[in-house]
Amino acid sequence: MVSLAGVSSKFSISSPRAWAEIDFSALRWNLARARESCGVDVMAVVKAGAYGHGLEQLARVFAEEGVAFLGVANVGEARRIREAGVGTRIYLLGATWAGEREEIVARDWTPCVSTLEEARHFSGLADAAGKRLKVHLAVDTGMGRGGFLPEDLPRVWPDLCGLEGLEIEGIGSHLPSADEDEAFTLGQMAKFGDVVERLGGAANLRWRHLANSAGLLGYPNPGCNLARPGLMLYGVSPLAGRAGDLRPVMTLKSRITLVRTLPAGHGVSYGRSFVTTRPTKVATVGIGYGDGYPRHVSGNGAEVWLRGRRFPILGRVTMDQLMVDVTSADDIAEGDEVELFGANLPVAEIAEKAGTIVWEVFTGITPRVTRCYVG
Ligand SMILES: *Cc1c(COP(=O)(O)O)cnc(C)c1O
Repeated sequence: MVSLAGVSSKFSISSPRAWAEIDFSALRWNLARARESCGVDVMAVVKAGAYGHGLEQLARVFAEEGVAFLGVANVGEARRIREAGVGTRIYLLGATWAGEREEIVARDWTPCVSTLEEARHFSGLADAAGKRLKVHLAVDTGMGRGGFLPEDLPRVWPDLCGLEGLEIEGIGSHLPSADEDEAFTLGQMAKFGDVVERLGGAANLRWRHLANSAGLLGYPNPGCNLARPGLMLYGVSPLAGRAGDLRPVMTLKSRITLVRTLPAGHGVSYGRSFVTTRPTKVATVGIGYGDGYPRHVSGNGAEVWLRGRRFPILGRVTMDQLMVDVTSADDIAEGDEVELFGANLPVAEIAEKAGTIVWEVFTGITPRVTRCYVG
C-alpha cells in the first residue's frame, strides 16, 4: 500500500474507477503472427506510448523477444526506452529537429533522412564525434509525409554515399492505403522495388522496409527484409477481411458504481438525448471520456460487456461516468466489473461507432486509466 504523507492512515487508497489490463502473452502471440506473416524481421512500432499500452513495459517485452528495432515518433520516446534499460536499436519514424541530432548521433539512434541537407548535417555531427552513424533513407512512394521522391533518389545517391560520417544501412517507405486501395499499394511496392534496385539492391542496403500492419497482413513483401507493424501487435487487424488470428492485448475495464430504476419519461445524461419509455433499470459505470472512452459513441448503439453479455449505453457518455440499460438482467450489482472493449468486445466496433479508427481510440486512453500488466 502506498503511504501518503499527511493523510490519515485509516483511509486506504481508493481503487481506480477505470483500468486497462494489458496481456503480455497476447502481445507475444501477435508478434509471432507478425513474424510468420512474411518471414521477415520486425521493427515493433511503439510510438505514442506503445499505442497507449505503456511504452517502457512493452518495449521491455519486445526487447526480450529480440525484435530488430523499436520504432518511435521522437527523441523523448527514445530516451524513455533507454532510461527503462532497454538496449534494442531505436529507429526514429519521423523527421528530426536539427537541435536533436547531436544526441541522436551520440546515442546511436537510427534516423530516417528525407533530404540531402539532413544527411549532411548528420554526417558532420558524426564526423565531429569520430563515428559513423547508421541511417536509413526514407522514400516517398505516395504517403506525402516525408522522404526523397523516388525519381530524385538515384541522382542524389552518389552524394549520399560520399558522406563520410554516414553508413546508409537501410531504406524505407510507407503505405497510406494498404487497408483500402490494393491497386495503389501494389503500385507503391513496385516503385519501391524499382528504386531499391537502382541503388544497388540488397548489396547496398542492409534493411529494406515498407509494410505497416496492413501491408504485412494483406500483401507479399518481395525484396523487403524488415516490416514495421504497430496495430497488429496490439491485437487488431486493420483489414476487415483478414483478422489474422490476433489476440487483443488491451481490455478496458471499469465497475458499476450505482444501480437504480427510473420511471418512464425520465431523461438520461446531458442533453436528454435519451428518455426512458418504460421503467428502466440503469447502471452507472465509473468511466467516461476523461478516461479516453470515446464520447462520440453516444447515441450510436454502443454496448458494454457485463456478466457475460452485452448491454446498451444510454444517452451521452459523460466525463467520468456513463449509464447502461440493465433492465433485462436481475443479477447486476454495484461493484460489478464492466468491459468497455477488449477480450469480449472488439475495440474496432467501438471505434466504428465513434466514427474513428482504433489507433485513435488506443492512443486516446488517458493517464487516469491505470495500466495493469498480466501474463
Ligand atoms: C505508425 C507507423 C507504422 C505502424 O503502422 P500500423 O498501421 O499501426 O501497423 C509503420 N510505419 C510508420 C512509418 C508509421 O508511422
